[in-house]
Amino acid sequence: MQTIKFRAAIVAVALAAFAAVPTVHARSADAPVTEADLAAHIRTLAGDAFEGRAPGTDGEDRTIAYIVGEWAKAGLEAVPGSATPWLQPVPFVETQALSGTAMFKVNGRDFALGDDGIVVTGRDASVALASLPAVFVGYGIDGAGQVNADVKGKLAIMLFDNAPFGEALPRYRERRQMLADAGASAVLVIATDAVPWDALRESVGSKSMRLASAKAGAPVSGFLSPEAADALFKAAGQDGAALREAAKAADYQGAVLPVTADFTTASTVRFFASHNVIARLPGARPDGKAVLFLGHWDHLGICAPEGAADRICNGAVDNASGIAVLIEVAKRLGRGARPDRDIYFLATTAEEKGLLGARWFADHPVVPLSDITVALNVDTIAISPRGTPVATIGRGKPAYDAVVREVATTLGRTLDADGEADAFIQRQDGWALGAKGVTSLMVGGSFSDMALLEAFLSGNYHRAGDNFSDQIPLGGAAEDADLHVALGRAFADTKRWAVK
Ligand SMILES: [Zn+2]
Repeated sequence: MQTIKFRAAIVAVALAAFAAVPTVHARSADAPVTEADLAAHIRTLAGDAFEGRAPGTDGEDRTIAYIVGEWAKAGLEAVPGSATPWLQPVPFVETQALSGTAMFKVNGRDFALGDDGIVVTGRDASVALASLPAVFVGYGIDGAGQVNADVKGKLAIMLFDNAPFGEALPRYRERRQMLADAGASAVLVIATDAVPWDALRESVGSKSMRLASAKAGAPVSGFLSPEAADALFKAAGQDGAALREAAKAADYQGAVLPVTADFTTASTVRFFASHNVIARLPGARPDGKAVLFLGHWDHLGICAPEGAADRICNGAVDNASGIAVLIEVAKRLGRGARPDRDIYFLATTAEEKGLLGARWFADHPVVPLSDITVALNVDTIAISPRGTPVATIGRGKPAYDAVVREVATTLGRTLDADGEADAFIQRQDGWALGAKGVTSLMVGGSFSDMALLEAFLSGNYHRAGDNFSDQIPLGGAAEDADLHVALGRAFADTKRWAVK
């Protein structure tokens, strides 16, 4: 665990380097953000020296130093009264699976599943469980979002995909946790076509992180390939396709299987702190309300096995591009006409591990959440060219939508009204704040052109190929950066956006 003192030294060095900030007089208009402005930041943040920006690594130290340095240059300040200026420590538990075995009995007789179709990991350093009765739970929840079966002391076998019923029901990680909270001793998630089996397998072999404050997961968790699940169901006298079909009902209550399971696992467990970076631009005429910009600084770190040509997931698009935008937005707002309201800038850690830094901030905000009039999240923004319509994830509140429409239209942007972007609402940091009642929007072109977005998601996304290159489209990101400057001005304007 690296100490806070050490991080404070990193911040001090970053600040000293830029102590002499030139005074720039307020301008009437903000200079447009250029592709070159963004490219410079992305090239640095996604450089190999930053090692893919994994939390708790040297790459984190470099990333923090860079962001703090750039935001200080922009005129942002540490939040007054914070014990660790610029940084919010976020305590984590990291688990690395060393080994895991699973053995099944069907109707009391050994059933060999084969190692290819199953991968398991333990919550603690060493776990041994025997003769767990198995139950297939479908999505694990009912239409009301409640755990749908008795899983106490059992192995629960759950589907990965989002439930086809109900409104905004939780994704698989949360559902898996709900099953653990309900007493499941083991949870196996059946893989989906949407995520390649090899990727899921590797994700278990790699390190997993949770907030130290979070409830512990089930003692054993893991994944089953669709084929392995079907083989197990078949041996148990069930048909996999029929079980999946039955599970689509909002009142499905699971199917008890004539199956028992034994598990043994070994893992290393490490406690450490990573950090959110938090800064503030004090308002000229503060009225107690605030605007929050956020984006995640972290990415996946060293992600490919030893021997691979490129082992680093550099995260150029995801999300060096978003941090680059937040740096340039801070510069425009910090050096131009000073907005009325306080504007907070938050670079979160561990988004890739399940929005963990954003969740920690939402539980430990440096400004009361009820004072945040809007949160604007910037993630994976270098997708589209100039001229792409503006989509809004989290839209639906007419007054907010009107501001976005007016600001975008003033900048000559058109609006995307088809709602396809809504599918991503749970996959971004704004969700952690939205869950606590903060109006959280993700505005821009990257989630507007679904063909371009899908091409990225099925291509370099979360792979070593997400490197900085001249091929990354930055025109749309530059336009979206201008849009965020204007949105920041609009929502921080006490006359234009009058809120109680
Ligand atoms: Zn990501």
